[in-house]
Amino acid sequence: MNWLRRVMYGRYGTDSLNYALIAVYFVLYLLSSLLRSHLMSLLSTVCLILAFYRMFSRQIDRRQAENARFLDAVQPIVRWYNVNKCRRRDRDHAYFRCPNCGQQLRVPKGKGKISITCRNCGASFEEKT
Ligand SMILES: [Zn+2]
Repeated sequence: MNWLRRVMYGRYGTDSLNYALIAVYFVLYLLSSLLRSHLMSLLSTVCLILAFYRMFSRQIDRRQAENARFLDAVQPIVRWYNVNKCRRRDRDHAYFRCPNCGQQLRVPKGKGKISITCRNCGASFEEKT
């Protein structure tokens, strides 16, 4: 493994963007073989080449900036996924959005029709839980 350490010395290595590129590569590769699409095959190869280029790049600052932009771009999606995962696991509460300000509100389930007061703006509305 010393040879690998020597090869990778001063190079960027891998990050979240590279993992995403490799995942996209696998998805496109599978789709291209299922659909027999040359365009998807080409796109998957481009993703893989880009991932390897980033991995062996010596321009670490640029690669880190690319990764930061990527993480900023996917953060809303990751947050939405995590919020929904928590909601699915939380069977004791119902979730509503305030009609006035859009704030997420969590109330206990199984209480019938209740009045919900938004903690953010103070608006009150009735919902069935
Ligand atoms: Zn509100």
